[in-house]
Amino acid sequence: MQVFGLVGNPVSHSLSPPMHEAAYEEVGLDARYVTFEPSRDELAAALRGADALGVAGLNVTAPFKQDVRSLVSMDDLAARIGAVNTVDFSGDEPTGHNTDAAGVRRAFTHHDVALDGQSAVVVGAGGAGRSAAFALGEECNHLCVANRTVARAEELADDVGRQTDATTSSCSLDDLPDALADADVLVNATSVGMGEDRSPVPSDALHPELAVLDAVYEPLETRLLQDARAAGATTIDGAWMLLYQGVEAFEVWFDDSAPVTVMNRALRARL
Ligand code: NAP
Repeated sequence: MQVFGLVGNPVSHSLSPPMHEAAYEEVGLDARYVTFEPSRDELAAALRGADALGVAGLNVTAPFKQDVRSLVSMDDLAARIGAVNTVDFSGDEPTGHNTDAAGVRRAFTHHDVALDGQSAVVVGAGGAGRSAAFALGEECNHLCVANRTVARAEELADDVGRQTDATTSSCSLDDLPDALADADVLVNATSVGMGEDRSPVPSDALHPELAVLDAVYEPLETRLLQDARAAGATTIDGAWMLLYQGVEAFEVWFDDSAPVTVMNRALRARL
């Protein structure tokens, strides 16, 4: 039997175990997906132990996506983003990947939203913001990063501008209406809206030409998505990003396409 898992703290309410185990059952794999909750001090030993015990792969979630960087050999994308959410133990040394960026890109593709040549706005400059910004920077013509702490938005926009072909800019949350006026794509990658009826984006800045992805998935129908739908925008909930980061992790581990429909059904049954 192969063992996969999730490392984070806390992870007890994670939706990844049912999503991945539904995939294993669907394709007939003898595998389990379990959760591990080490402290930060225990993280390095936990990864060495997992490798030594023959764990095949791990997902990594908050607060460890950056800590894991020094414990694995990162692929190019994870190194550029500066965060690892998937570790593959199948090679000579553990390799770190970032599938959150693919989660963003594939969520838009699933909804027939073309990113090529578009103008995008990412709100947030934490871990999810960095993944979304690199995903969109690689596809779009222009990327604006908006954040409460403007210095972090500037730093992220500069990082993406240096490493992709997109032109980039940054702004405060107060300047979002101007940034969104000509935008085609918007991602909320802040924690605003998580378990609360609040949006980081003023409702009158939203318009019908926008496709809006909210990384927040609890609730699924956030205030931002309600406002976006009322404005006539295309809306994509955070479970699509969660689904596709898991699908991409499956594909890293098994080098084969994942049973997306089954994983989506298992995920949404829990939400
Ligand atoms: P993080 O690294 O802690 O970053 C949090 C971000 O939210 C920062 O940009 C922060 O701004 C901003 N923020 C926090 N409180 C705010 C407030 N009151 N007003 C305005 N901005 C505020 O967290 P993360 O890992 O990026 O996660 C962000 C969200 O994405 C969470 O809700 C998480 O659940 C979700 N997420 C979803 C997926 C998915 O697959 N759907 C994957 C990853 C994360 P400052 O820089 O100013 O502090």
